[in-house]
Amino acid sequence: MLEIEGLAVRYGAREPVLHAVSLAVAEAGVVALLGANGAGKTSLMRAVSGTVPLHGGTVAAGSIRFLGQEIARANPADVVARGLVQVPEGRHVFGPLTVDENLDAGAITVRSREARARARRQVFEMFPRLAERRRQRAGTLSGGEQQMLAIARALMSQPKLLLLDEPSLGLAPRLVRQIGETVREIARDGVPVLLVEQNAAMALSVAHSAYVLELGRVVLSGPAGELSHSDEVRRLYLGEDVDEGPEGPEAPGDGRAVPQLARWTA
Ligand code: ATP
Repeated sequence: MLEIEGLAVRYGAREPVLHAVSLAVAEAGVVALLGANGAGKTSLMRAVSGTVPLHGGTVAAGSIRFLGQEIARANPADVVARGLVQVPEGRHVFGPLTVDENLDAGAITVRSREARARARRQVFEMFPRLAERRRQRAGTLSGGEQQMLAIARALMSQPKLLLLDEPSLGLAPRLVRQIGETVREIARDGVPVLLVEQNAAMALSVAHSAYVLELGRVVLSGPAGELSHSDEVRRLYLGEDVDEGPEGPEAPGDGRAVPQLARWTA
Protein backbone atom coordinates (compact mmCIF):
# COMPACT_ATOMS: atom_id res chain seq x y z
CA MET A 1 0.00 0.00 0.00
CA LEU A 2 2.82 2.38 0.94
CA GLU A 3 6.26 1.95 -0.61
CA ILE A 4 9.15 4.21 0.33
CA GLU A 5 12.38 3.83 -1.59
CA GLY A 6 15.71 5.58 -1.20
CA LEU A 7 14.18 8.48 0.72
CA ALA A 8 16.42 11.40 1.72
CA VAL A 9 15.18 14.41 3.69
CA ARG A 10 17.18 17.50 4.61
CA TYR A 11 16.51 20.74 6.44
CA GLY A 12 18.19 23.77 4.88
CA ALA A 13 21.75 23.25 3.71
CA ARG A 14 22.57 20.72 6.45
CA GLU A 15 23.37 17.06 5.94
CA PRO A 16 20.27 14.95 5.25
CA VAL A 17 18.53 13.61 8.35
CA LEU A 18 17.20 10.61 6.41
CA HIS A 19 19.47 8.68 4.04
CA ALA A 20 18.25 6.14 1.51
CA VAL A 21 15.38 4.94 3.68
CA SER A 22 13.21 2.17 2.25
CA LEU A 23 10.11 0.85 3.96
CA ALA A 24 6.87 -0.85 2.99
CA VAL A 25 3.41 -1.09 4.53
CA ALA A 26 1.12 -3.83 3.27
CA GLU A 27 -2.65 -3.61 2.86
CA ALA A 28 -3.32 -5.05 6.30
CA GLY A 29 -1.70 -5.00 9.69
CA VAL A 30 0.58 -2.77 11.72
CA VAL A 31 4.11 -1.72 10.80
CA ALA A 32 6.19 -0.23 13.60
CA LEU A 33 8.93 2.31 13.12
CA LEU A 34 11.26 2.43 16.11
CA GLY A 35 14.16 4.69 16.88
CA ALA A 36 15.87 6.86 19.43
CA ASN A 37 15.31 10.59 19.84
CA GLY A 38 16.48 12.35 16.71
CA ALA A 39 16.68 9.15 14.62
CA GLY A 40 14.43 10.70 11.98
CA LYS A 41 11.04 9.09 12.71
CA THR A 42 9.07 12.33 12.63
CA SER A 43 10.89 13.48 9.49
CA LEU A 44 9.83 10.28 7.79
CA MET A 45 6.22 10.86 8.85
CA ARG A 46 6.43 14.41 7.53
CA ALA A 47 7.74 13.15 4.21
CA VAL A 48 4.83 10.74 3.89
CA SER A 49 2.21 13.35 4.86
CA GLY A 50 3.70 16.01 2.55
CA THR A 51 4.54 18.35 5.42
CA VAL A 52 8.36 18.46 5.17
CA PRO A 53 8.30 21.90 3.41
CA LEU A 54 6.15 23.31 6.24
CA HIS A 55 9.09 22.59 8.54
CA GLY A 56 11.70 24.20 6.32
CA GLY A 57 12.85 20.92 4.79
CA THR A 58 12.91 19.21 1.39
CA VAL A 59 12.58 15.69 0.12
CA ALA A 60 16.02 15.52 -1.49
CA ALA A 61 15.79 12.06 -3.08
CA GLY A 62 13.72 8.93 -3.35
CA SER A 63 10.13 8.01 -3.96
CA ILE A 64 7.02 7.50 -1.83
CA ARG A 65 4.24 5.60 -3.55
CA PHE A 66 0.79 5.27 -2.04
CA LEU A 67 -1.53 2.84 -3.78
CA GLY A 68 0.85 2.94 -6.74
CA GLN A 69 0.89 6.76 -7.09
CA GLU A 70 3.90 8.95 -6.41
CA ILE A 71 3.27 11.32 -3.48
CA ALA A 72 6.80 12.34 -2.44
CA ARG A 73 6.16 15.95 -3.39
CA ALA A 74 2.38 16.08 -3.05
CA ASN A 75 0.83 18.73 -0.83
CA PRO A 76 -0.64 17.72 2.54
CA ALA A 77 -4.28 18.26 1.53
CA ASP A 78 -3.81 16.03 -1.50
CA VAL A 79 -2.24 13.32 0.65
CA VAL A 80 -5.18 13.39 3.08
CA ALA A 81 -7.65 13.36 0.19
CA ARG A 82 -6.01 10.14 -1.01
CA GLY A 83 -6.80 8.54 2.34
CA LEU A 84 -3.44 8.76 4.07
CA VAL A 85 -4.13 10.39 7.41
CA GLN A 86 -1.65 11.26 10.13
CA VAL A 87 -2.15 11.70 13.86
CA PRO A 88 0.83 13.85 14.78
CA GLU A 89 2.76 13.57 18.01
CA GLY A 90 1.34 15.57 20.93
CA ARG A 91 -2.42 14.91 21.13
CA HIS A 92 -3.56 17.85 19.04
CA VAL A 93 -7.26 18.32 19.69
CA PHE A 94 -9.35 21.46 19.40
CA GLY A 95 -9.49 22.32 23.11
CA PRO A 96 -12.44 24.74 23.14
CA LEU A 97 -14.59 22.39 21.02
CA THR A 98 -16.55 19.44 22.39
CA VAL A 99 -15.71 15.82 21.64
CA ASP A 100 -18.58 15.73 19.13
CA GLU A 101 -17.37 18.89 17.40
CA ASN A 102 -13.83 17.52 17.17
CA LEU A 103 -15.21 14.41 15.52
CA ASP A 104 -17.25 16.56 13.10
CA ALA A 105 -14.02 18.35 12.14
CA GLY A 106 -12.41 14.98 11.37
CA ALA A 107 -15.28 14.07 9.06
CA ILE A 108 -15.24 17.31 7.11
CA THR A 109 -14.15 15.59 3.89
CA VAL A 110 -16.81 12.87 4.14
CA ARG A 111 -19.73 13.98 1.97
CA SER A 112 -22.36 11.39 2.83
CA ARG A 113 -24.28 12.05 6.03
CA GLU A 114 -24.84 8.31 6.37
CA ALA A 115 -21.13 7.58 6.10
CA ARG A 116 -20.42 10.21 8.77
CA ALA A 117 -23.01 8.70 11.10
CA ARG A 118 -21.58 5.22 10.52
CA ALA A 119 -18.04 6.44 11.21
CA ARG A 120 -19.22 8.07 14.44
CA ARG A 121 -20.96 4.87 15.58
CA GLN A 122 -17.79 2.87 14.91
CA VAL A 123 -15.63 5.40 16.71
CA PHE A 124 -17.91 5.39 19.77
CA GLU A 125 -17.88 1.59 19.80
CA MET A 126 -14.12 1.67 19.85
CA PHE A 127 -13.94 4.50 22.40
CA PRO A 128 -16.98 4.23 24.72
CA ARG A 129 -15.36 6.74 27.05
CA LEU A 130 -15.58 9.37 24.33
CA ALA A 131 -19.24 8.53 23.82
CA GLU A 132 -19.86 9.23 27.50
CA ARG A 133 -18.12 12.58 27.14
CA ARG A 134 -19.35 13.69 23.78
CA ARG A 135 -20.48 17.10 25.01
CA GLN A 136 -17.38 17.74 27.10
CA ARG A 137 -14.80 20.27 25.85
CA ALA A 138 -11.75 18.46 24.52
CA GLY A 139 -9.40 20.72 26.49
CA THR A 140 -10.79 19.34 29.75
CA LEU A 141 -10.26 15.65 28.84
CA SER A 142 -7.41 13.68 30.45
CA GLY A 143 -4.22 13.12 28.45
CA GLY A 144 -5.24 9.56 27.57
CA GLU A 145 -8.70 10.66 26.49
CA GLN A 146 -7.22 13.42 24.32
CA GLN A 147 -4.98 10.86 22.61
CA MET A 148 -8.01 8.65 22.01
CA LEU A 149 -9.89 11.65 20.58
CA ALA A 150 -6.99 12.53 18.26
CA ILE A 151 -7.07 8.97 16.90
CA ALA A 152 -10.87 8.92 16.77
CA ARG A 153 -10.93 12.19 14.82
CA ALA A 154 -8.53 10.73 12.25
CA LEU A 155 -10.73 7.64 11.94
CA MET A 156 -13.76 9.85 11.21
CA SER A 157 -12.17 10.71 7.85
CA GLN A 158 -12.27 7.01 6.92
CA PRO A 159 -8.56 6.70 6.14
CA LYS A 160 -7.09 4.00 3.93
CA LEU A 161 -3.87 4.13 5.93
CA LEU A 162 -3.31 5.66 9.37
CA LEU A 163 0.01 7.14 10.48
CA LEU A 164 0.38 7.37 14.26
CA ASP A 165 3.29 9.38 15.64
CA GLU A 166 4.20 8.30 19.18
CA PRO A 167 0.66 7.83 20.53
CA SER A 168 1.93 6.45 23.84
CA LEU A 169 4.16 9.41 24.63
CA GLY A 170 3.77 10.56 28.25
CA LEU A 171 0.97 8.13 29.10
CA ALA A 172 0.79 5.81 32.13
CA PRO A 173 1.47 2.08 31.47
CA ARG A 174 -2.21 1.14 31.66
CA LEU A 175 -3.07 3.72 29.00
CA VAL A 176 -0.13 2.64 26.85
CA ARG A 177 -1.56 -0.90 26.87
CA GLN A 178 -4.95 0.53 25.93
CA ILE A 179 -3.44 2.46 23.02
CA GLY A 180 -1.75 -0.75 21.88
CA GLU A 181 -5.11 -2.56 22.00
CA THR A 182 -6.70 0.26 20.02
CA VAL A 183 -4.03 0.10 17.32
CA ARG A 184 -4.57 -3.65 17.04
CA GLU A 185 -8.33 -3.12 16.75
CA ILE A 186 -7.98 -0.45 14.05
CA ALA A 187 -5.89 -2.84 11.95
CA ARG A 188 -8.33 -5.68 12.63
CA ASP A 189 -11.14 -3.44 11.37
CA GLY A 190 -9.27 -3.11 8.07
CA VAL A 191 -7.21 0.08 8.35
CA PRO A 192 -3.46 -0.59 8.19
CA VAL A 193 -1.31 1.44 10.59
CA LEU A 194 2.22 2.82 10.41
CA LEU A 195 3.06 3.22 14.08
CA VAL A 196 6.01 5.39 15.10
CA GLU A 197 7.02 4.63 18.66
CA GLN A 198 9.79 4.92 21.19
CA ASN A 199 7.96 2.35 23.31
CA ALA A 200 9.40 -0.69 21.57
CA ALA A 201 7.71 -3.22 23.86
CA MET A 202 4.24 -1.93 23.04
CA ALA A 203 4.96 -1.39 19.36
CA LEU A 204 6.46 -4.84 18.81
CA SER A 205 3.60 -6.48 20.68
CA VAL A 206 1.02 -5.09 18.23
CA ALA A 207 3.03 -4.83 15.00
CA HIS A 208 3.42 -7.46 12.30
CA SER A 209 6.69 -6.05 11.05
CA ALA A 210 9.06 -3.35 12.22
CA TYR A 211 11.91 -1.12 11.15
CA VAL A 212 14.57 0.40 13.37
CA LEU A 213 15.90 3.82 12.37
CA GLU A 214 19.27 4.97 13.60
CA LEU A 215 20.78 8.31 12.59
CA GLY A 216 18.46 8.50 9.63
CA ARG A 217 19.16 4.99 8.33
CA VAL A 218 17.24 1.73 8.62
CA VAL A 219 19.57 -0.53 10.59
CA LEU A 220 17.21 -3.41 11.40
CA SER A 221 13.96 -4.63 9.92
CA GLY A 222 11.86 -7.77 9.85
CA PRO A 223 8.84 -9.52 11.37
CA ALA A 224 8.03 -7.94 14.76
CA GLY A 225 8.12 -11.34 16.51
CA GLU A 226 11.64 -11.97 15.26
CA LEU A 227 12.85 -8.49 16.13
CA SER A 228 11.46 -8.70 19.65
CA HIS A 229 13.49 -11.89 20.14
CA SER A 230 16.66 -10.53 18.61
CA ASP A 231 19.39 -9.95 21.19
CA GLU A 232 20.03 -6.57 19.64
CA VAL A 233 16.52 -5.26 20.18
CA ARG A 234 16.07 -6.97 23.55
CA ARG A 235 19.20 -5.42 24.96
CA LEU A 236 18.92 -1.97 23.45
CA TYR A 237 15.18 -1.39 23.19
CA LEU A 238 13.51 -3.61 25.73
CA GLY A 239 16.10 -3.07 28.47
CA GLU A 240 16.66 -6.80 29.01
CA ASP A 241 19.89 -8.44 30.13
CA VAL A 242 21.24 -10.51 27.28
CA ASP A 243 24.26 -12.74 27.57
CA GLU A 244 26.79 -11.06 25.31
CA GLY A 245 29.24 -13.97 25.27
CA PRO A 246 33.01 -13.61 25.28
CA GLU A 247 33.07 -11.43 22.14
CA GLY A 248 30.77 -8.75 23.55
CA PRO A 249 27.64 -7.44 21.78
CA GLU A 250 27.22 -8.37 18.18
CA ALA A 251 26.94 -5.42 15.83
CA PRO A 252 23.79 -5.23 13.72
CA GLY A 253 23.88 -5.52 9.91
CA ASP A 254 26.19 -2.68 9.07
CA GLY A 255 27.81 -2.42 12.49
CA ARG A 256 26.96 1.23 13.17
CA ALA A 257 23.92 1.12 15.36
CA VAL A 258 25.07 0.03 18.77
CA PRO A 259 26.61 3.18 20.29
CA GLN A 260 23.65 5.46 19.50
CA LEU A 261 20.99 2.99 20.53
CA ALA A 262 22.89 2.27 23.72
CA ARG A 263 23.02 5.98 24.50
CA TRP A 264 19.28 6.28 24.05
CA THR A 265 18.48 3.50 26.52
CA ALA A 266 21.02 4.76 29.08
P1 ATP B 1 12.00 12.33 18.44
O1 ATP B 1 11.71 10.92 18.85
O2 ATP B 1 12.86 13.07 19.42
O3 ATP B 1 10.79 13.10 18.02
P2 ATP B 1 12.70 11.68 15.71
O4 ATP B 1 13.23 10.30 15.56
O5 ATP B 1 11.26 11.89 15.40
O6 ATP B 1 13.00 12.24 17.16
P3 ATP B 1 13.23 13.89 13.93
O7 ATP B 1 12.36 14.81 14.75
O8 ATP B 1 12.79 13.49 12.60
O9 ATP B 1 13.61 12.59 14.78
O10 ATP B 1 14.65 14.59 13.82
C1 ATP B 1 15.71 14.05 13.03
C2 ATP B 1 16.79 15.13 12.89
O11 ATP B 1 16.26 16.20 12.12
C3 ATP B 1 17.24 15.74 14.22
O12 ATP B 1 18.63 15.91 14.16
C4 ATP B 1 16.52 17.07 14.27
O13 ATP B 1 17.30 18.04 14.96
C5 ATP B 1 16.42 17.44 12.80
N1 ATP B 1 15.24 18.26 12.54
C6 ATP B 1 13.94 17.92 12.72
N2 ATP B 1 13.10 18.91 12.35
C7 ATP B 1 13.90 19.92 11.94
C8 ATP B 1 13.64 21.23 11.41
N3 ATP B 1 12.38 21.68 11.25
N4 ATP B 1 14.70 21.99 11.08
C9 ATP B 1 15.97 21.53 11.22
N5 ATP B 1 16.29 20.31 11.68
C10 ATP B 1 15.27 19.51 12.05
